[in-house]
Amino acid sequence: MTTGPFSASFAEARAAFVEAATAAGASLSSHAHPETGPDGGALTTDCAWIGPADAAKVLVLVSGTHGVEGFCGSGAQVDWLRRREFTHLAPDSAVLLVHAINPYGFAWKRRVTHENVDLNRNFVDFSRPLPENPGYVQLASAVTPEDWSEETQIACRRVLLDFARTHGFEALAQAMSGGQYTHPDGLFFGGSGPTWSRTTLETIFADHLSQATDVGIVDFHTGLGPEGYAEPIIAAPPGTPEYERAMHWHGLAATSHAGGDSVSAQIAGDWLAAAPSLLPRARVTGVALEYGTVPSNRVLDALRADNWLHAYGDPLSPEGQAIKAQMLAAFYIDTDIWRGMVLGQSLTAVRQTMRGLARTDSP
Ligand SMILES: [Zn+2]
Repeated sequence: MTTGPFSASFAEARAAFVEAATAAGASLSSHAHPETGPDGGALTTDCAWIGPADAAKVLVLVSGTHGVEGFCGSGAQVDWLRRREFTHLAPDSAVLLVHAINPYGFAWKRRVTHENVDLNRNFVDFSRPLPENPGYVQLASAVTPEDWSEETQIACRRVLLDFARTHGFEALAQAMSGGQYTHPDGLFFGGSGPTWSRTTLETIFADHLSQATDVGIVDFHTGLGPEGYAEPIIAAPPGTPEYERAMHWHGLAATSHAGGDSVSAQIAGDWLAAAPSLLPRARVTGVALEYGTVPSNRVLDALRADNWLHAYGDPLSPEGQAIKAQMLAAFYIDTDIWRGMVLGQSLTAVRQTMRGLARTDSP
């Protein structure tokens, strides 16, 4: 069932994006993923460009960094195109829309890539010592048990709650979601090298943004914070010009995961933080727009179930389908109110970015 600009599957979302981009007069390009979706269909990352090829100022809108979260981000991108918001771009500006940078996770309703990697923990320098996470090491066997019986789930949840009672819930969230590089079959794994999605994003940036001197980014996410509220999260730490500029553009509701005031844990290896080094000629100003869905314990339960399913179960079985429904419900709220909140706040954040790009007096 299609609901406005939102889709019920990756294939539907891709078709809606290509149709809306074509109607907008965009030039399209596509990157084929090596795997297929659960329906056997092809997986691609699609790019749409509107505006002069040599534009100095470029608005960049990205969906599906965390796969399943693309059901939200794709809807926001399709809506933005259908509303013809691009007609508000200044003459020296262009827009690059990147649809489903992690198409495997989108199609399989997973947060991770086909390498079981969290793309936003993958943009680290693998030639250097990797970040350590002793809390995760302590919890790993409770996070990823081999069987998923009721008894095991209860026992594992008790281990996690005991950790929270001893160290606090914030410490639990940091241990669980801060990222880890020691357990390839675990949650929030940062990888042992660049993933397909990282390499593809780097290629897209090199192909489209090497001429740009001013780049404004919105990356769409879901799963953290109050239901329906969009928190603009700045990747740059407080005190840097990037942070000051993003605050200037997005206002006092913006937070920084490096500053400790965000719903997100402190992380390393997210692509927004890496963007300035990928675009050395450009002034980069970006936010992750994080939409709240359900309470975080339900999100973590869904992630752990899905992690078990792909490590030890059969994703195409009836049990697998139930876990996939649990995943979608954790990252996409199937109500008109939630979808309306997504679109309204998306329009605001993207217009703020366009306005910021047009101004010359930003910090
Ligand atoms: Zn996310």
